[in-house]
Amino acid sequence: MKESGTISIHSENIFPIIKKFLYSDHEIFLRELVANAVDATQKLKRLSALGEIPDDIGDDLKIEVEFDKKKKTITIKDKGIGMTAEEIKKYINQIAFSGAEEFLEKYKDKGEEQQIIGFFGLGFYSAFMVADKVEIITKSYQKGAAAAHWECDGSTGFTIKPAKRKDRGTDVILHIAKDSEEFLDEFRLKGILDKHCKFLPVEIKFGTKDEYVPDGKDKDGKEKTKKVTVDNIINNTRPLWVKPPSELKDEDYLAFYKDLYPFAEDPLFWIHLNVDYPFNLTGVLYFPRIKKDIEIQRNKIQLYSRQVFITDEVKDVVPEFLQLLHGVIDSPDIPLNVSRSFLQSDSNVKKINGYITKKVADKLAGLFKNDRQAYEAKWDDIGLFVKYGMISEEKFYEKAKDFALFKNLEGKYFTLEEYKKKVEKTQTDKDKNVVYLYATEPAKQDTFIRSVKNKGYDVLVFDSIIDSHFINLLEERLEKVQLKRVDADTADKLIDKDDKVDSVLGEDDEKKVKEVFEKAIADPNMTVNVASLPVDEMPVVITMSEFMRRMKDMAATGGGGFPMMGGMPDQYNVTVNANHPITQKILAAKTAKKKETLAKQAFDLALLSQDMLSGNKLSEFIERSVKIIAK
Ligand code: ADP
Repeated sequence: MKESGTISIHSENIFPIIKKFLYSDHEIFLRELVANAVDATQKLKRLSALGEIPDDIGDDLKIEVEFDKKKKTITIKDKGIGMTAEEIKKYINQIAFSGAEEFLEKYKDKGEEQQIIGFFGLGFYSAFMVADKVEIITKSYQKGAAAAHWECDGSTGFTIKPAKRKDRGTDVILHIAKDSEEFLDEFRLKGILDKHCKFLPVEIKFGTKDEYVPDGKDKDGKEKTKKVTVDNIINNTRPLWVKPPSELKDEDYLAFYKDLYPFAEDPLFWIHLNVDYPFNLTGVLYFPRIKKDIEIQRNKIQLYSRQVFITDEVKDVVPEFLQLLHGVIDSPDIPLNVSRSFLQSDSNVKKINGYITKKVADKLAGLFKNDRQAYEAKWDDIGLFVKYGMISEEKFYEKAKDFALFKNLEGKYFTLEEYKKKVEKTQTDKDKNVVYLYATEPAKQDTFIRSVKNKGYDVLVFDSIIDSHFINLLEERLEKVQLKRVDADTADKLIDKDDKVDSVLGEDDEKKVKEVFEKAIADPNMTVNVASLPVDEMPVVITMSEFMRRMKDMAATGGGGFPMMGGMPDQYNVTVNANHPITQKILAAKTAKKKETLAKQAFDLALLSQDMLSGNKLSEFIERSVKIIAK
């Protein structure tokens, strides 16, 4: 009765090749085999529900994963539909291995550099990544079916013979190869099950555990407990995302979050995704507190396909800015057994992208509309995310422009539109541009802030790492709006309204003052000019043009494509206030030396106020100050 044959593969032995190519991800064999067991169980349930199975299929449809260190086996047992000998021949010998054949066709001629896609749908033959012999003992649910025993040692030959088996279902027994004995370990297996099978829809038993259950009362009336041994079920068959949102409370979402990320702070809020047309997708996305560090937040979204964990690299499924979110996406429509480049152009993936983006934007718009105060309180945490989204996704910008906020120095929040209304009157220059002023480090930029405040201007705070890019975006998008940092120019030039302050100096004197300062500063990167600033302004103001500074910022954060700016020396404008009494004093000074000392002092004062004075220069400044005061 024993039958043997060869699996139709045009290579002597495919398994070493599979093994070699997939070395990095051997552990997924367990996911594949357990997923098959789940499928077989679900099929049985469906047939039973349809009335196609006359007998009761029983309540206990648990799948079991067992290992035996001595025999060096791992066994996956299910009580699913099972297979007849004919079905084994068809499904295992032909179908399961045709995948292998295809795989070989594709990759046999390509070198090591050929990147094998991370989540190649391996199916049954992935067993041979860790086993050198595999047995299947199975019995079909069909009435009168005979049990069958299939065996294959990793060559292309197999045997199939009748087996003794009473109950319906399938055992897959892996004889673990020498180089894979690491898998014969409780913690290793538990880890793999935890990662890949945690939310599978059929109970999976892995060993047993002790539990203490109530056991009446002792003679003093105290509650007693007794130890019992129960099945150790490793999965939650109905994870949060498959439940209807109406069944769920905030606590449930928070508890699930803790379950996914035990060490994370509570999320700010979440979105329950649920679509069935034009694609199938469920999931929950959480907004974490992003704070300032974008990088460490990535890879927190887990991708599932019908509750089977696939990957936490969602690069190609989720728009980049949304990768900052956490949570779970489950879709049977994401093609997982194809290459990543294909994934990017897949139309379902594109639709999913669009859907998630829209959902996220709608959620934020809703929060903003329904509880502005709470939304503002969260802005410091979500602002980075929203700005990132606006920069990277046109569609998101269109929605987010209505709920993105500016924060000013006083800690007040404004939408883009509100802010324009607020400053339009006071901050429009002679060319009809509305100029938004901002500070990146308010403490350092305080002298400038005071100057612009004196003029009645408002100052925004842009202090996150993404703001230099956000500012560029705003200028591109908002018509007749310019953004300037408070230290980009003297206060009256920042928003040039053409109001002239009468200079008390004549042309000759201005030239003299300029020469004195040029000599005193003696730095080719400091361009001196004399201007009529209000008397109460500083005698000297040092600025860097908005353009220059932005280019440097962009080069520093790696964006904008101006790497050459990174190495250039900082270029500053030094504006001497013609109207300041110190300037008069310099002109009136008797000796060239005295003029220079005063000019140096005024310049150093400006440096000091901008936190640009240190070391030697600072000591010299202090010495000079002492001498001047003592005189
Ligand atoms: P896939 O699951 O993608 O179809 P596999 O190579 O994993 O490919 O399995 C091939 C086929 O073998 C399955 O479609 C199924 O018909 C059958 N099969 C595998 N495992 C089991 C099992 N535990 N019980 C019943 N049938 C199974």
